[in-house]
Amino acid sequence: MTFKDFKLDERLLEGIKAMGYENATPVQEQVIPPILAGKDIIASAQTGTGKTAAFLLPLIHKLITIPHDHHQINAMIIVPTRELAIQIAQAMEGLSYFTSVSSIPVYGGGDGALFTAEKKALSTGVDVVVCTPGRMIAHLNMGYVKLDGLRYLILDEADRMLDMGFKDDIMRIISYLPKKRQNLLFSATMPHKIREMARTILHQPEEINI
Ligand code: AMP
Repeated sequence: MTFKDFKLDERLLEGIKAMGYENATPVQEQVIPPILAGKDIIASAQTGTGKTAAFLLPLIHKLITIPHDHHQINAMIIVPTRELAIQIAQAMEGLSYFTSVSSIPVYGGGDGALFTAEKKALSTGVDVVVCTPGRMIAHLNMGYVKLDGLRYLILDEADRMLDMGFKDDIMRIISYLPKKRQNLLFSATMPHKIREMARTILHQPEEINI
């Protein structure tokens, strides 16, 4: 299946071409249509399967084609580590290169200048934030994060986040978000504790097993 078959925006197809992708991977074939249709998703997918683009492509397409307020945070991708935040933000930048969709990684550590740059983006608005839980909580505690326009929440490597003890942080972040939003959860494994968390976060999700 090629990416044209998903009827993605032309500018996004340009970005996909520039990244060197030709055909969709199996996870992308299964996940992209229901995300485009607005469904909540719970998907078991390993790293290396193309799962990042599987959620980024429909997300970017929606941000291009559905009118929204650029002075708000429209999507939040929560990930376990700074390395993953940086990696996803890089894929985001490459795929959205020919579009006006903006994004920023927000992760722990770093110096004061980095925190200030994150604060500026989070308070003036950026389409997509890719964040680690602890760092996002630090910003939320300061009271300037603009979340009223948030419509998409993505939890990536959810099992790893629970193993790292981020459950309370994640639930706290979610308590700040508007109730009406699309939720996507990706996890390499599906233990009981993931299904339990999914039940409280997702709304009638479609389950996809790769
Ligand atoms: P991921 O599973 O998201 O970590 O992706 C693994 C690698 O596959 C990354 O280097 C991606 O850039 C690459 N990739 C993702 N989708 C495709 C595709 N459709 N065709 C070729 N490479 C891809």
